[in-house]
Amino acid sequence: MDGVRRLGGAGGPTPDENDQDAVRRLRRLVATGCRVLAAHGESDLIWGHASVRDPDGRGAWLKAAGWGLEEITPDRVHLVSRTGEVTEGGGQRHAEYPIHTEVLAARPDVGAVVHVHPRHAIALAATGQDLLPVSHEANLFGPDPLPRFTRTTDLIVSAGLGRAVADGLGDRNALFLVNHGVVCVGPDLPTAVVTAVLLERACEQQLLTTAAGGRPTWTGREESVAKRDRIYTDEALHLAWDYLVRQLAGGTSHG
Ligand SMILES: [Zn+2]
Repeated sequence: MDGVRRLGGAGGPTPDENDQDAVRRLRRLVATGCRVLAAHGESDLIWGHASVRDPDGRGAWLKAAGWGLEEITPDRVHLVSRTGEVTEGGGQRHAEYPIHTEVLAARPDVGAVVHVHPRHAIALAATGQDLLPVSHEANLFGPDPLPRFTRTTDLIVSAGLGRAVADGLGDRNALFLVNHGVVCVGPDLPTAVVTAVLLERACEQQLLTTAAGGRPTWTGREESVAKRDRIYTDEALHLAWDYLVRQLAGGTSHG
């Protein structure tokens, strides 16, 4: 390419311009996802992150370190290679990037990864209880118990640990990192983010239920599968994402 922009005429956008538009959209998507997560109890000061797969196989477009989720703008999202180099964009890289790069490598069906430290999910996982469908939300994660990663409670800072997290996740949509946080995935960023929001709500609901005493009940296995497939369709998860983005836009704190 000679770098000359051809404006007007029959030319239309060049391949480079299309690529740049695609990158801008990805960075905007990750930024929006981070802000949605922040608005729904997923923040832990400057820790926790979300990413999307680079469509050209160059790695993960990941939130930059040092910022709260609610502070993320498209220019605070950068491209991290599988070996940890920031190859596009600036800022400091999160130490736990291998969660993203190794899960994306292990799961070709996954297009986005969320790793956060939400209070209710951490509390529930630390009790040793399985996640139970005491309300609708937990059905998204059933009917088998949500997997629990217990090899370490420390940060996931090596490719080997990242691969172990991917192994623990298996073919599921979420994983408890016990005494640490959660990993949620989806075919795209809206699904991964809504999954994370629903997981935190499910955990909060279960903690409320068990704390209230009485004789807790929850949905049985067969009905749980039926509810999962009826309530949490791909379309519904995307409509929920649209709602969360509208809610964000209507708020006063983010302009
Ligand atoms: Zn973490």
